[in-house]
Amino acid sequence: AAKSQGRGNFQFFSAEMNTATHERLMLENRLWQALEQNEFELYLQPQVELATQRIIGAEALLRWHHPELGMVGPDRFIPIAEESGLILPLGDWVLQRACALLASWRTPGLAHLRLAVNLSARQCHGPGLLPQLDKLLHDHGIEPALLELEITESAAMQDPERSRALLDQLRSRGIKVAIDDFGTGYSSLSYLKLFEIDRIKIDRGFVKDIESDPNDAVIVAATIALAHSLGLGVVAEGVETEAQRDFLRAKLCDEAQGYLFARPMPVAQFEAMVLSE
Ligand code: C2E
Ligand code: MG
Ligand code: MG
Ligand code: MG
Repeated sequence: AAKSQGRGNFQFFSAEMNTATHERLMLENRLWQALEQNEFELYLQPQVELATQRIIGAEALLRWHHPELGMVGPDRFIPIAEESGLILPLGDWVLQRACALLASWRTPGLAHLRLAVNLSARQCHGPGLLPQLDKLLHDHGIEPALLELEITESAAMQDPERSRALLDQLRSRGIKVAIDDFGTGYSSLSYLKLFEIDRIKIDRGFVKDIESDPNDAVIVAATIALAHSLGLGVVAEGVETEAQRDFLRAKLCDEAQGYLFARPMPVAQFEAMVLSE
């Protein structure tokens, strides 16, 4: 069939298409439909206060239930959604879902929970974010401080002036802002100087080797102390062992998130977990 479309096409189909490109095209074609057909779901991963071991909130993590491939993780489709522009409607959907959830938690045992949502670079730099947030917070009557937006260093650094303006606007509304994957960019310290934020999330890459790599242990301890001296909270990502948890607690890290406590899970399961504590 490809051959009948001519020489150029034949070459395209037969020689150059490796598996990665193929998967990418397949997922991209299917992504727009996926949003219409409600194939996305928000999973929640608990965030635990280290001093008390209590769940104080969750991070919302997107999952795609693909009809043939099964569950597809965000690392496989967020970059594609970002490039193709689908990230804007998809990001809107995530914020809507998150705000509806926060509204549904105004009930005994759940009303204290904070919900963190990841923002993509395009969402941060587009004009639609603030009006959408204002509408959602108003329509759902949400306490803004219960919503936390996670922004990566690289997203913010794409356009530092705009980012700074956006973060000022978010904070003036009382919405919390966290830097995701802290320490993995080239400009972590300038970020702290440039932007007003509430919290940093220490990247899993530093937490992983706390026990075996003395340099990582020093970096994590110093990052926690630095954040605290600037008045910022600290969440450690990717905590998998009791030794990592104990180290972080000893260094006065505020909160942690990771497989040691729980994997990302469906909403109902998260709510049951909080209520049974
Ligand atoms: P992230 O925001 O840094 O999220 C943390 C990732 O680490 C999640 O992967 C989580 O499942 C994983 N994780 C948590 N604890 C552990 C642990 O103890 N060990 C290990 N090995 N991994 C752990 P996930 O859910 O696959 O998400 C990957 C990335 O996709 C996220 O990284 C975030 O950048 C992006 N993402 C997820 N949901 C959204 C969304 O709604 N919007 C946008 N723009 N990006 C999203
Ligand atoms: Mg995150
Ligand atoms: Mg992260
Ligand atoms: Mg990440």
